[in-house]
Amino acid sequence: MRFRTLKELAQVCVNEGKPIYRIMLEDQAKESGRTPEQEWDKMKSYYGIMKEAVMKGISSDKTSRSGLTGGDAKRVFEYTRKEDSSLEPFTGMAMAYALAVSEVNASMGRIVATPTAGSCGVIPGVFVSSQERFGWTDDHMVEGLFCAGAIGYVIANNSFISGAEGGCQAEIGSAIGMAAGALVELKGGTPAQAVHAVGLALKNTLGLICDPVGGLVEIPCIVRNGFGAVNALAAADMALAGVQSAIPSDEVIQVMLEVGSAMPDIHRETARGGLAQTPTGKQIIKQLAQDKKKSRSERKEKENDDESHK
Ligand code: SF4
Repeated sequence: MRFRTLKELAQVCVNEGKPIYRIMLEDQAKESGRTPEQEWDKMKSYYGIMKEAVMKGISSDKTSRSGLTGGDAKRVFEYTRKEDSSLEPFTGMAMAYALAVSEVNASMGRIVATPTAGSCGVIPGVFVSSQERFGWTDDHMVEGLFCAGAIGYVIANNSFISGAEGGCQAEIGSAIGMAAGALVELKGGTPAQAVHAVGLALKNTLGLICDPVGGLVEIPCIVRNGFGAVNALAAADMALAGVQSAIPSDEVIQVMLEVGSAMPDIHRETARGGLAQTPTGKQIIKQLAQDKKKSRSERKEKENDDESHK
């Protein structure tokens, strides 16, 4: 790669007179040994999976295997179309789509990790809703995915992108930064503006802990994806309006590393702290364990029955 930081990325873009997505596409092809066309096709297939997940999640009442979550995407999608919704429909749609993909993940459906499965809803939420709103082509969206990929590459190489390493700021935070920067470029913003959007977005999630109830990527992960999509839209708008990240985005990424490294283990995906250890969180974990035990003994009983009828 010709860049390791966002500053270097923006500089390469200026030097070569190319957008971020183009630099990423070229460098990724060089590194993988595949042609840019092959890289493009692969990314386009990922976008297809994202759209499928949005459509599946938005129309489903199905609960997750644990029974803890499901159907919220559909609820939000319907509510935000009503007049009394506080969000205008487009923003509500981004939020609903992000919830949808995250619910599909919780029910073991097909998603694309962007950058992880836990944060898989933010980018599709922002991308698919923006495509519908602005009438963009799939190819334009693929450009956006390469741009998001470049941002994710920088974050991953300088900080964290997983909750186990750096808390939820590393998963949901990174996804918001990637979506915000990419949306700026999709809307015609400069590489410098896209980089500012990343910093603006990441600052807003610094310190966010990873505390999934029962260790399942459901509570609070799914709603955090929904909020994440809304934050990404806001960060992109701020950057396009000319707001700059006073602390350079690369320095914000370093702060994420510092904060994540200082985070206690109980707040890094172990489910030993935060929401996972509230009285209700503990009750949910207890209930899940009982349900598991019950279904195990029912299965065993059935196996014994089948055996005795042979
Ligand atoms: S709480 Fe943890 S598992 Fe859930 S989305 Fe955040 S980082 Fe991922």
